[in-house]
Amino acid sequence: ASGYTLMRDPRHNKGVAFTERERDAHYLRGLLPPIVLSQELQEKRIMHMLRQYKVPLQRYMAMMDLQERNERLFYKLLIDNVEELLPVVYTPTVGEACQKYGSIFRRPQGLYISLKEKGKILEVLKNWPERSVQVIVVTDGERILGLGDLGCQGMGIPVGKLSLYTALGGVRPSACLPITIDVGTNNEKLLNDEFYIGLRQRRATGQEYAELLHEFMSAVKQNYGEKVLIQFEDFANHNAFELLARYSSSHLVFNDDIQGTASVVLAGLLAALKLLGGTLADHRFLFLGAGEAGTGIAELIALEMSKQTGNPIEENRKKIWLVDSKGLIVDSRKHSLQHFKKPWAHEHEPVSKLVDAVKAIKPTVLIGTSGVGKQFTREVVEAMASINEKPLIMALSNPTSQAECTGEEAYTWSEGRAIFASGSPFDPFEYDGKVFVPGQANNAYIFPGFGLGVIMSGAIRVHEDMLLAASEALAAQVTGEHFKKGLIYPPFSDIRKISANIAAKVAAKAYELGLASHLPQPEDLVKYAENCMYSPVYRTYR
Ligand code: NAP
Ligand code: MN
Repeated sequence: ASGYTLMRDPRHNKGVAFTERERDAHYLRGLLPPIVLSQELQEKRIMHMLRQYKVPLQRYMAMMDLQERNERLFYKLLIDNVEELLPVVYTPTVGEACQKYGSIFRRPQGLYISLKEKGKILEVLKNWPERSVQVIVVTDGERILGLGDLGCQGMGIPVGKLSLYTALGGVRPSACLPITIDVGTNNEKLLNDEFYIGLRQRRATGQEYAELLHEFMSAVKQNYGEKVLIQFEDFANHNAFELLARYSSSHLVFNDDIQGTASVVLAGLLAALKLLGGTLADHRFLFLGAGEAGTGIAELIALEMSKQTGNPIEENRKKIWLVDSKGLIVDSRKHSLQHFKKPWAHEHEPVSKLVDAVKAIKPTVLIGTSGVGKQFTREVVEAMASINEKPLIMALSNPTSQAECTGEEAYTWSEGRAIFASGSPFDPFEYDGKVFVPGQANNAYIFPGFGLGVIMSGAIRVHEDMLLAASEALAAQVTGEHFKKGLIYPPFSDIRKISANIAAKVAAKAYELGLASHLPQPEDLVKYAENCMYSPVYRTYR
């Protein structure tokens, strides 16, 4: 290929890092300024530029430009500066990017499959240039973060998630495929926005929706085979639960909002037990929000309790209570509850306000998964602190604006006794001379390593025991030094090592369950995982 083509191909471009020999051998002379820089210096230069931007969305756009220009440099930046750049390419900034996607959209970064493509989805998949796809992240844009229906502009989410699959989990970029399914949007603002990029119609539902999704699922299997991992992302809960139930026995599917969240939160709980004492079954849990995240986490906690105690899961569920928009979920509401809430309708009189539910249930752990900000008020946190020596409070809703409370609020209102973690990052906070570092209960700890484990073992199905294995692997990475700062998650800066450990445990479980097809089983799975991981270091072109 000509030098010009090489430079325009983001997968091969090295910019001014092309060496003298490469410039001669590949007709690059004169197409670049005379200077030759190392990848490290390029990295330093771009980080310097990014830090000058004060507006987060500008940083996001600069990162997207870099990804389209020089893929290896993009990943090198992301891997080496993960704590600084995660909030740029992922929550919270990616949320704003999706809201404004129509205006900032430059080049498609994934596949758009809309109702217009009905009957032709297999052909559409064949238009994608990569043949050996291993992970698909797909959304229909109906519940983007805690921001609601963003329709086709939800594309920012699969794109961002897959860049984390590569940066944090080491899955090759060419093996990652972001997809947005556009069945319309019910977002009036977008429907009236002249720059909206999606179908200008209200959402298809019922049979029309199910048929499009079914065609999609069949086409993916036909085109890529059994071993492509399909991650459902940011679907509204009524569809999310149904799709997972419908396809989990025929496809390799994973719902990050239900299962990934559950696994990361369970990991935090398992780690926190070392601070709180007791076993999981000794604790009582109250959730604000009984959707995908809330009920998904609740179910995995109950399952882990069963593994630990041998008690039936129905017994364990009784230690877990959930509040939705109508108040505490209790048996008298059973007839009108969505099916995924029914297992949580315990015997109790109706309670409408969260603070009253806290006083009535006396939970040791309070978890926010409502998508509504500021719900853990001073009154609520004080109630938790009066019941517990060390109240465990997790404000999981994203983005930052939707967090149930801030780290500062949790520490202040509990007089420095709370153990706190949140979905979006908060800065360390000093209270009474002690610095508290809010842990980030973020799915990004789990799904990249989980996916790598699934891929490297050639697993053909996701089993819930693989989720438990991931939680245990993550919890095992939290050390005494982290606990001292109040952390129940290890720092993100170690994420590649963490992911390799998670991948190894997930793969081991897949082999144990007979779900792995990559045989024989590698002897040292951690080493094997590390060797599988993509490196962003430039290659030399001869
Ligand atoms: P979802 O399925 O739509 O569930 C939301 C739940 O919150 C529903 O049960 C809803 O009640 C309830 N709710 C809404 N407003 C409420 C209020 N004012 N008071 C009490 N309950 C209320 O959404 P989801 O997928 O579970 O996600 C929820 C949030 O969790 C989002 O902000 C998301 O970003 C966040 N999340 C974070 C992570 C993480 O890694 N930290 C992972 C996944 C999700 P009804 O059922 O009565 O409508
Ligand atoms: Mn999500």
